[in-house]
Amino acid sequence: MPSEDHANGSDSVDSSRDSEQSTLLASPELQVVEAERDGFSAICPDCGKAIGKSRGGHELPDGRRVHGLACSDCNNVIPGTCHAEDAPHWTDRIRGIPVEMRDGSTRLAAGIRGEKA
Ligand SMILES: [Zn+2]
Repeated sequence: MPSEDHANGSDSVDSSRDSEQSTLLASPELQVVEAERDGFSAICPDCGKAIGKSRGGHELPDGRRVHGLACSDCNNVIPGTCHAEDAPHWTDRIRGIPVEMRDGSTRLAAGIRGEKA
């Protein structure tokens, strides 16, 4: 019986193929950002596109919906600002909800109350 200790490094080397999955898709994760201003126009902070026409309901990464702006090119959502939870300057359907922004800060955003029935 040839019982030699043939430690033949049979550690199946997985040749870990770190095939860098070319995630070149222009849309990374949905990000919640602040708009920038160009005169009267709201512009995307990343690409500078005017986004005023995107005003409406948009979904946050966590599934909540806010009223605000968005840049589809950058996958950015720019929620409208609320200054209080009862959002007195908005309609009944809007209330202030705390939203975490891309920079880590949290502010009240114009959350859309309830689901569209
Ligand atoms: Zn953009």
